[in-house]
Amino acid sequence: MNPATNPAAMTVPLCDLLAQLRDLEPQLLEAVTRVLRSGQVINGPEVAQFEQAAARYGGAPYGVGCSSGSDALLLALAALGIGPGDEVLLPPFTFFASVGAVCRLGARPVFADIESATYNLDPHQVESKITSRTRAIMAVHLFGQCADMEPLWSIAERHNLAIVEDAAQAIGAEYQGKRAGTLGGIACFSFYPSKNLGAYGDAGLAVTSDPDWAERMRSLRNHGMEPKYYHRFIGWNARLDALHAAMLSVKLPHLERWTEMRQAAAARYDALIDEYHVGGFLQRPTVRPQRRHVFNQYVVRVGRGQRDALVRYFRAQKIGCEIYYPIPLHMQECLDYLGYREGDFPASERAAQDVMALPMFPEIHVDQQHRVVQCVAQFLRQQARVAA
Ligand SMILES: *Cc1c(COP(=O)(O)O)cnc(C)c1O
Repeated sequence: MNPATNPAAMTVPLCDLLAQLRDLEPQLLEAVTRVLRSGQVINGPEVAQFEQAAARYGGAPYGVGCSSGSDALLLALAALGIGPGDEVLLPPFTFFASVGAVCRLGARPVFADIESATYNLDPHQVESKITSRTRAIMAVHLFGQCADMEPLWSIAERHNLAIVEDAAQAIGAEYQGKRAGTLGGIACFSFYPSKNLGAYGDAGLAVTSDPDWAERMRSLRNHGMEPKYYHRFIGWNARLDALHAAMLSVKLPHLERWTEMRQAAAARYDALIDEYHVGGFLQRPTVRPQRRHVFNQYVVRVGRGQRDALVRYFRAQKIGCEIYYPIPLHMQECLDYLGYREGDFPASERAAQDVMALPMFPEIHVDQQHRVVQCVAQFLRQQARVAA
């Protein structure tokens, strides 16, 4: 059936990675060929060029490319000297990689709850969790909106803590006119394919304005080796491949435009939620003043305890959706040893029950967005029929 003549039959993907490929494939293949023919697939000029350009985009002087956003977090915490006996404060409502980096270094994660409206760390929850062992605060900029940094800056200063930004979902986001990447000591980006700047595989970047931390991360991502076969630190193989760097360099100049397209799509969802009269059921994302939200995800809060039913309905209608994240980190089995219990972080637990991400990618068409929100209205009509 032709979806143009029958919008009700239209399926909508959560994320369409092939849309960007249509325009950029020749340039991407050219970049791949260039790397293959250079014979240099590890380190080298492609990596250095991308690091510089991407760090500049993030507003930071130094960039260290690495194998993933997860490893960027690991390198950042390791460069700060965080290890056994240290505590790192972070929210429990984020992707596992945020906490995984802390645990992989033998440090102890300490959770502080989120603000319900933005899903980011609630600064009011932070100070009471600080102990003599606390070394850093990890500010996660969830879904593409920066955390409330100003109060975190004063807390960090008062207690002499480092701030690491988990900006995996927030490349290009801004807080009070400053880019994510300049809001703490070290910031970490992910180029996982579904992030705003997606690689064709795993890749990441850590940025900083501190040359010593940059040097330390550069060394740690390559087994702490400097010069060759002399090891000052115990590091890892966490390098960025030249192939990824070359392809990311093709994509980076388009990121601003893609971000604006995401913002336009978010504004259309905001309007469609009114147009289909589902605003009492779906709570739109809250964008705080002085923030540039880059909408890696457009996440709504679903009312009346109906989130799971709506997700099932979307799946049946072949409309993409996802739950970021269904289980807060303090309830994850592997973190049992921290001793947290259900009820410890009510805002995070509520979010985990209520949130749902709608299809979001720069090229999403207005007809697709109509279909998504129409699907919510259909769901509500069906519920009303069942109740009657
Ligand atoms: C994607 C993501 C990461 C990890 O990035 P990878 O590149 O997948 O390793 C870390 N934190 C958050 C919040 C993320 O969304």
